[in-house]
Amino acid sequence: MARNKRVKIAVLAGDGIGPEITAATTRVLRAAASKARLPVALRSALIGWVPYKRLKTTLPDATLAAMRDCDGWIVGPTYAGEYPKDDPYRGHPNGFIRRNFKLFANVRPVEAWPQLDPLIEDLRITVLRENTEGFYPDRNLAWGYGEFKPREDVALSLRVITAEACRRFAQFAFEYAEATGERRLAVVHKRTALPQTEGVFIGAFEALRSRFRRVSFELVRIDTFSSSFPRDPGRYRLVATTNLFGDILSDQASGLAGGVGLAPSLNAGHDHAMAQAVHGTAPDIAGKGKANPAALILSTALLLRWIYQRRRNQACKDAAALMEQGVRAAIAAGTVTPDLGGDASTTAFANAVISSCKKA
Ligand code: ATP
Repeated sequence: MARNKRVKIAVLAGDGIGPEITAATTRVLRAAASKARLPVALRSALIGWVPYKRLKTTLPDATLAAMRDCDGWIVGPTYAGEYPKDDPYRGHPNGFIRRNFKLFANVRPVEAWPQLDPLIEDLRITVLRENTEGFYPDRNLAWGYGEFKPREDVALSLRVITAEACRRFAQFAFEYAEATGERRLAVVHKRTALPQTEGVFIGAFEALRSRFRRVSFELVRIDTFSSSFPRDPGRYRLVATTNLFGDILSDQASGLAGGVGLAPSLNAGHDHAMAQAVHGTAPDIAGKGKANPAALILSTALLLRWIYQRRRNQACKDAAALMEQGVRAAIAAGTVTPDLGGDASTTAFANAVISSCKKA
């Protein structure tokens, strides 16, 4: 594909600090894209509390149409528990977005930053997590819940693992390894205890092995992984696993790296992907101009890398690298927001990232 085909991105500001960090992120994105000669069209759309108050929905049809029309989205955090649970108009929007747009893979890179006082200083790992099934009651069935109580004192939890979901996820994982230059992929499982479901999951990777010869993959039991990873973190750079294990391992890695403060994430499907910081809406500092936009900037770099993964559009990769280096440079120079011990505002931090992008 042409190096400079236009990339269309929807920007959904969200709640709490969402508007501040999305504004900072789009400024950085524009600067990096301009430097990398990547034409980017940004389109704003409403999500969360603002449309809920005005239109009685957290995700208006106009937003869904804008999302469908774009390659990917930058999405600010949205309030978690505040929306009425019985609201027919979608309530909390994240689950609906994930299901509606079939975002089947969750990407969680974790990196130790000295400012976060990490337990492991050189930790760097990416956890790829299957996002649509597994033990999660909200993801198992077309209707109803995957947890049951046949008697008051007996509870059953149903895990669904399908060959189709495993196949698309395994392919995504191999392609991700290739696009990011990782040579080794650890498939983390518990086949000894769950032979049928884990067998389907592992089988999907084995079936693709010959198509991705440049990536060697190893099977690692979750218990082996959990005990060896903190002692020998350099051994694993890229991990692919099922939903619940991925949830736990990515947070374990974040804990060892000093917390989720700077943690980016991407939810990806075949047609769309969503850049979203791991942290929440931070209502205690909303509107004060001191929110740290780094996690959302890094998430947006992941989005550009995902577009590169699909289209081999080199300018996307270049712009992503500029954003990541810019964040690194701003933090290394000490231009940091109060959560990292500095006194820079959201805007000042974004300016530092932008000036680093321009100088690169
Ligand atoms: P939610 O209910 O939306 O998850 P929360 O306050 O429970 O919100 P977070 O939003 O993750 O959870 O916030 C936890 C703490 O971390 C808060 O003190 C918040 O101010 C801080 N925090 C979170 N994100 C940021 C950020 N981007 N910049 C600065 N501080 C942040």
